[in-house]
Amino acid sequence: MNGSGPKIDFRRSRERMVREQIEARGVSDPQVLRAMRKVPRHLFVEEALTPQAYEDHPLPLGHGQTISQPYVVGWMTELLAVAPGMRVLEIGTGSGYQAAVLAELGAYVFTVERVRPLYAQARRRLEELRYLKVRFKLDDGTLGWPEEAPFDRILVTAGGPKIPDPLRAQLADPGRMVIPVGAGRRSQTLVVVRKENGRVEEQELGGVMFVDLVGAHGW
Ligand code: SAH
Repeated sequence: MNGSGPKIDFRRSRERMVREQIEARGVSDPQVLRAMRKVPRHLFVEEALTPQAYEDHPLPLGHGQTISQPYVVGWMTELLAVAPGMRVLEIGTGSGYQAAVLAELGAYVFTVERVRPLYAQARRRLEELRYLKVRFKLDDGTLGWPEEAPFDRILVTAGGPKIPDPLRAQLADPGRMVIPVGAGRRSQTLVVVRKENGRVEEQELGGVMFVDLVGAHGW
């Protein structure tokens, strides 16, 4: 770290974030908590925002996009129930933070972003932080990543009007997808899709607010 600006103990801020925002609200999966204690979230936002990196709200990433509130990352990651060695597709790389959390869980992460500068920045950032197993694609993520399908887990971190058909098709059996879906923009219901023995079940959880999932099967 260089000497400019006030010195912040990021490790302590991160510990407090996990305790007060994530554990206190009911996320209890020890692996998820461990991963979020480890990933240096302040390195995933622009420098001017680092003092706010561990606060209880989303932050702007530029290009009209945001890095999700820490609690939402914890909640969705717990719902996804990732085990080491699973193939996980993430739609909406954004800052790369969520991809790093998934990588900490031992997943093979495939992440798709449609905004080139975000894709390039996240890719560089994760390489610098030695998350070397994460694979990146610049494309419309509503089409999934057919060449690498099927996926044990799919996590969508932008909100669209419906569950994109290609993502349903690329989900393994058994498999699980977590995705915000909403009839209106900027406000969605978090949906968990479980596929098992050829049967698909959908469960609607609480309300969330994500930026738009745009594309062929999005807005
Ligand atoms: N998971 C991110 C936050 C995502 S914000 C993080 O941890 O920082 C949502 C992201 O989804 C934005 O970067 C946006 O550009 C992207 N996005 C929206 N529609 C998309 C699409 N069809 N394909 C890929 N990325 C998309």
